[in-house]
Amino acid sequence: MPVTTNPYNLETLSEYQYFLDFQVIQMLEISQKSFQKWGKMPLKKRLKFIKNLIFVLTKQQHLLAETCSKEMGKPVKQAIAEVKKCGLLCEYYLEHAESFLENKNIKTEAGESFVTHEPLGVILGVMPWNFPYWQVFRFAIPAIIAGNTVVVKHASNVAGCAALLEDIFKEAEFPEIVYQNLQISGEQVKNVIENPVIKGVSLTGSEKAGASVASAAANLIKKSVLELGGSNAFIVLEDADLDEAIPVAVTARMQNTGQSCIAAKRFIVHKSLYNEFVSRFTEEVKKMKCGDPLDESTEIGTLARVDLAEDIEKQVDKSVKMGARIVTGGKRKDAFYEPTVLVDVTTDMPVFNEEVFGPVAPVVAFGTFEEAVELSNNSSFGLGVNIFTKDVETLKQKIHLFEEGAVFVNAMVKSDPALPFGGINKSGFGRELAENGIKEFVNVKTVYIK
Ligand code: NDP
Repeated sequence: MPVTTNPYNLETLSEYQYFLDFQVIQMLEISQKSFQKWGKMPLKKRLKFIKNLIFVLTKQQHLLAETCSKEMGKPVKQAIAEVKKCGLLCEYYLEHAESFLENKNIKTEAGESFVTHEPLGVILGVMPWNFPYWQVFRFAIPAIIAGNTVVVKHASNVAGCAALLEDIFKEAEFPEIVYQNLQISGEQVKNVIENPVIKGVSLTGSEKAGASVASAAANLIKKSVLELGGSNAFIVLEDADLDEAIPVAVTARMQNTGQSCIAAKRFIVHKSLYNEFVSRFTEEVKKMKCGDPLDESTEIGTLARVDLAEDIEKQVDKSVKMGARIVTGGKRKDAFYEPTVLVDVTTDMPVFNEEVFGPVAPVVAFGTFEEAVELSNNSSFGLGVNIFTKDVETLKQKIHLFEEGAVFVNAMVKSDPALPFGGINKSGFGRELAENGIKEFVNVKTVYIK
């Protein structure tokens, strides 16, 4: 029987059952029936219920945050910020959805030609535990506003968060069942994708899960969007201001205890600043308050599960055997892994060439700009890169050299409802957020009238 466990004290939080296949089929039928009505409702009316959702979200933010901290170890202050960001996403689409989805006239030789945007039907979300609310909102809100209904298979270790998400949709009194929590295992997902009711799937998670879900969808010519991992570089150019770069570097790596796809995972620093960067960065990392995720002052919680902490331990230990040196950290206790800084890192080490989903910062030096670009691009992923420099104009001419979905200059890579979010290469395909996100699960229908 699946259980949820508090990674901080290893206490069992709940035991639950996966839904049986026949129950899942019934739920999909409900979503399909709801879609028939919801998809036909005028957009303005649909948006009213998003307003209700913002209200409920705000009302329930402490319960949501606490449940998340207990289930996956996120410091509660960061959990509250995550819930608030979900509200901001709703506000963003409330303001912009009508202009994104309105008919677009296009001048051709026809008497009239335009495109309309129609919903596809029931969309499946397969979601991860690292931002258990934000990742779901990012997928579900634009899909629902566009007129689809959604079913969500959430990560097994955040079953409580998953149930609360369904509850807040209920409390917001949507007139149709636009959101259902599919409490199923990863193995049951293929069957769901194969159900004719499902018109598309969006997954955020590991490469392995992404490949499995996308191939099941592709087999039936169904659309998929994949938001997978990343190993973003944090590049500090020779002219960078370390006073600005260092605090950002700490947040970019350590936020959410390092468990973010867009976290800075490889620090690439000009050799003239390298020693100063390592010592000042390490000093800041050492100051971080580790402890009980439910304590408001905690900055570093535990990892979401013991096995995830063990994976990090293996990646660091193997890198150390290969010659890396630990400047601070490097120890694990159950699901807690110390914030860690590593030097003498080479590109063949796991801490450089694999995604390290935890609070571990390898720092390498470079000489020329070309070397920095080569190190940055030396990754199978392509989600984003952070670059610090005073010479923004010169860097702007070189943005195309970075093989990434996003380039952030003098700032950390972050998701913003107004900006498209997604990657290339092993980081996945498709985009979430902004206008691109709301158009992933719509039929862009061409109308041509002679
Ligand atoms: P997974 O990719 O296994 O989990 C993400 C979601 O996919 C969960 O809902 C999971 O369900 C589901 N899932 C897993 N396998 C399958 C499958 N074969 N078919 C359908 N659905 C599946 O991530 P993990 O929890 O194992 O984390 C491992 C690594 O993944 C991390 O260390 C990190 O590198 C990466 N990751 C990346 C994230 C991102 O934001 N890009 C988020 C989370 C993880 P269930 O929980 O039931 O297995």
